[in-house]
Amino acid sequence: MYNPNTGRAWLEVDLENLSHNAAVLQEAMPPKCQLMAVVKAEAYGHGGAVIASHLNKLGVSAFAVATIDEGIALRKRGIRGDILILGYTDPERANELLDYDLTQTLIDFAYAQKLSGMGLSVKAHLKIDTGMRRLGIPCENLADIKEVFRMKHIRLWGMFTHLCCAESLTAEDTAFTRGQISGFYRVVNSLKKEGLPIPKLHLQSSYGLLNYPELQCDYIRTGIALYGVLSAPGEETNLKLDLRPVLSLKSRVVLLRDLKSGESLGYDRRFTAARNSRIAILPIGYADGFPRALSQGKGSVLLNGRLAPIAGNICMDQLAVDITEIPGVKIGTVATLISAEKDSLSAPQVAFHAGTISNELLSRLGSRLPIVIA
Ligand SMILES: *Cc1c(COP(=O)(O)O)cnc(C)c1O
Repeated sequence: MYNPNTGRAWLEVDLENLSHNAAVLQEAMPPKCQLMAVVKAEAYGHGGAVIASHLNKLGVSAFAVATIDEGIALRKRGIRGDILILGYTDPERANELLDYDLTQTLIDFAYAQKLSGMGLSVKAHLKIDTGMRRLGIPCENLADIKEVFRMKHIRLWGMFTHLCCAESLTAEDTAFTRGQISGFYRVVNSLKKEGLPIPKLHLQSSYGLLNYPELQCDYIRTGIALYGVLSAPGEETNLKLDLRPVLSLKSRVVLLRDLKSGESLGYDRRFTAARNSRIAILPIGYADGFPRALSQGKGSVLLNGRLAPIAGNICMDQLAVDITEIPGVKIGTVATLISAEKDSLSAPQVAFHAGTISNELLSRLGSRLPIVIA
């Protein structure tokens, strides 16, 4: 287990910031709308059970995961409330949906038929495709949608859609999103006209809330914003909320070495010392989820309050940083690789330098890293 004096590399999770974000997000939602905490992929690398049980204590009682096994893992850790599986579950596992009281997304009409055909009365939310063209019954197929409402062994508790460009404020993308929103409410109104019972409705994720906060709904599915960051640095949103990053990634110097000018370092000799240089070795690599794309100076780490560029190629389990200009680095000095405090090492910034978004960076962390509650 993790020991603060011997740890090799670890994730620090700030639960106070998580509480703060949950409160700020809930406050920004319309009255009666509830936060559905998206805790798929180990809560975006923050530790699924740690995050969900803290949220449970705060009174959050709606969660979303990607897979049935993520849902089962949360139940085994004692998580209470509704857990919605956003992705596909083989209908053969319908009994497990019941055993663990999990709610399944109906990803299209044929899937709903198969699941109902299992004869087990599973809890479900129906997904409506309003333009993303990934999962869901197209919003134009009203006959199919209505038939799902009449399926014998489906207990339909919710209906939702997913906005695919809610982060963009360009005129074209805003018009597209408005089209998705009206497509969804057209379905709702048509169901109302037929006298069908309207289940819980939800259509926004983090950016949906930040850019379209006024929509009437029962839940907002918040992932990335709950963890206190946006996907990319410097993004504009209509709502500006005081969100605070929850995660930091840290490691510890295990070796120092001096390179003479002209000496090379690491795989493929991708770093050559341009002067006599001092290098620190950190025992963390891409197998921990730290992107190899940050090799050769594209990324830096914080040591003694200064940024040290990554030297050469990041390895599976180690990386080297150039500390020639940073005094006082010793064996045992803690390095910050993703920071909850320093903007230049925020998850969106680090992700940007790695050519990706913070969602990918964060969700890939963790399989080998212990989680420490800050
Ligand atoms: C992952 C996911 C979310 C959460 O998205 P964020 O942008 O992280 O808030 C919401 N809804 C669906 C369907 C998802 O797959």
